[in-house]
Amino acid sequence: MDLYEYQARELFAEHGVPVLDGGTATTAQEAREVAERMLAAGSTLLVVKAQVKTGGRGKAGGVKLARSAEEAQARAEEILGMDIKGHTVRTVLVADGAQIDTELYVSILLDRAERRYLAMCSRQGGMDIETLAKEHPEALARVPVDPLEGVTPAVAARIVAEAGLPDDGPQGTAARVAAVIGRLWEVFTSQDATLVEVNPLVTTPDGQILALDGKVSLDDNASFRHPEHAALRDSGEADPLEARAKEAGLNYVRLDGQIGVLGNGAGLVMSTLDVVAGAGERHGGMRPANFLDLGGGSSAEEMATGLEVVASDPQVRAILVNVFGGITSCDTVANGIVTAVGSLEDLDKPIVVRLDGNNAELGRRILAEAALDGVTVVETMDGAADVVTAIAEKLGA
Ligand code: GDP
Ligand code: MN
Repeated sequence: MDLYEYQARELFAEHGVPVLDGGTATTAQEAREVAERMLAAGSTLLVVKAQVKTGGRGKAGGVKLARSAEEAQARAEEILGMDIKGHTVRTVLVADGAQIDTELYVSILLDRAERRYLAMCSRQGGMDIETLAKEHPEALARVPVDPLEGVTPAVAARIVAEAGLPDDGPQGTAARVAAVIGRLWEVFTSQDATLVEVNPLVTTPDGQILALDGKVSLDDNASFRHPEHAALRDSGEADPLEARAKEAGLNYVRLDGQIGVLGNGAGLVMSTLDVVAGAGERHGGMRPANFLDLGGGSSAEEMATGLEVVASDPQVRAILVNVFGGITSCDTVANGIVTAVGSLEDLDKPIVVRLDGNNAELGRRILAEAALDGVTVVETMDGAADVVTAIAEKLGA
């Protein structure tokens, strides 16, 4: 789960990472009130920031400075409702603004390929990390972190040294940035994060070091030991189809193609995605629209919900149901499809079914006898992928 910047800042504050105060607002009027409170408390510069789970908000016009409550309200008015890379801004953070001297980049992440953690640091903060890594790889220090050792003071000192921060004594900038990195490591481990990124971590003319932005991804596999993380989840942001599928206990991930895919078993569904993408290369570039694993059971009800979820993606032109009968035999699945298709009145997308394994023949016979409108049975997985992508290509023409 990715957090919003304001949530990341709250975690930072709890762990002693220096951040400036702020409050969130969902209307311009509310932003004005937050600004009034902060100005009354002595703020002189405010920043109004779009809260969306994507980077590059500054470039998109989603980060703006303000010096009065009126200005904060006007900036919030502009930012709320804005679309940033497909994310609608529903909340803004009104925070104390910093005077910036230099902008640094710092992150700690799980490096799956290397089976350890990785800390990165650069004196060229502010720009996005992909650009930095591509255009100035030499300016980005990458320091592996041994999971058992962690970011000790010595490791933190090495990170800042490799980033080229000159050692300017125990109270100097480098030492204090190293201390902040130590605190970020605390956030990373204590929250079971897979990523903690601060871009920019700034130094100010009056010698402060501040995290002006924060990106935190939490490891959902560890959510059982963080009941407090449940409060960080917002259902509004999630894809509505994914939410619906989750409620029904289905494992659904939305992709961006045109072929709806349902199958039983994660491995089978994964390979179905590959086969569909492969067949799509011969049929107008059709690609899978989703991953949906029906799981072990394929009752009529699960099949109906699965078909409904997949079909309600407006991008989907045709659907492939790929089932390998095991404990749940193909005749059960076929009956499930018949009942499901019958119960879904507005299901008007063509369905290609491939059944194999336990009682496959019986399953195919059930489907043949039901002679459902728009349902085609194909015996092989490759054949089914070919047929479904061909149908979808034609529908798009
Ligand atoms: P991002 O574009 O989504 O990464 O959003 P950031 O929070 O990183 O803000 C983008 C840029 O806006 C930063 O790199 C800063 O240059 C600038 N910025 C953000 N907050 C402040 C602030 O408090 N004061 C000033 N002067 N600039 C800020
Ligand atoms: Mn940033």
